[in-house]
Amino acid sequence: MSSLQVEMRSMKLLKKSLRCLILFIAPVASTLVHAHGNAHVHGLIRLNVAIDAKNLTVQIEAPLDSLLGFEHRPRTAAQHQAVETMLKQMNNVSALIQPAKAAACQSTTVSVEAPVLQSSQPAASKEADHADLSARFDFVCEHPDKLAVIALGFFDAFKRVQKIDVQVAGPKSQSKQTLKRPSKTLKLP
Ligand SMILES: [Zn+2]
Repeated sequence: MSSLQVEMRSMKLLKKSLRCLILFIAPVASTLVHAHGNAHVHGLIRLNVAIDAKNLTVQIEAPLDSLLGFEHRPRTAAQHQAVETMLKQMNNVSALIQPAKAAACQSTTVSVEAPVLQSSQPAASKEADHADLSARFDFVCEHPDKLAVIALGFFDAFKRVQKIDVQVAGPKSQSKQTLKRPSKTLKLP
């Protein structure tokens, strides 16, 4: 074999191994981002706003990483504290969701679900998985027709949240919008 042939062979091998490397890396990277379909992106929370007669419902879906910085059951004292603080913030509705004053909305119920935090499984299980939190905030509004804006406090409460994807279903129309830190005013169609 001439030295040129050897060189060409090793080039081919190198190309082959590079291709393998790329194939190997790609699925790992996409698993991080898309563990639960397309929605689980760290730093992003999804928000659904529905207005039906006098009822205003705001639902959020967030990777726990965006709220806590970790996605497993708390193990250390600091992690337990972080979970407690986060749950308090979730229940502090007036800091998170401020419907336009003129609409005269009253918060009625809040429910927060985070199966990983509530699970009774041992903390060590499913370490590598991603996990979400969902929450639902209900309001009753005296003047829903005056609900032109809602101020959102998620960027202030949760430093890791960079972006909020919002879907609004109102009496007049539906809309999609994205709020990027630091913008916090949601305009309703
Ligand atoms: Zn995650």
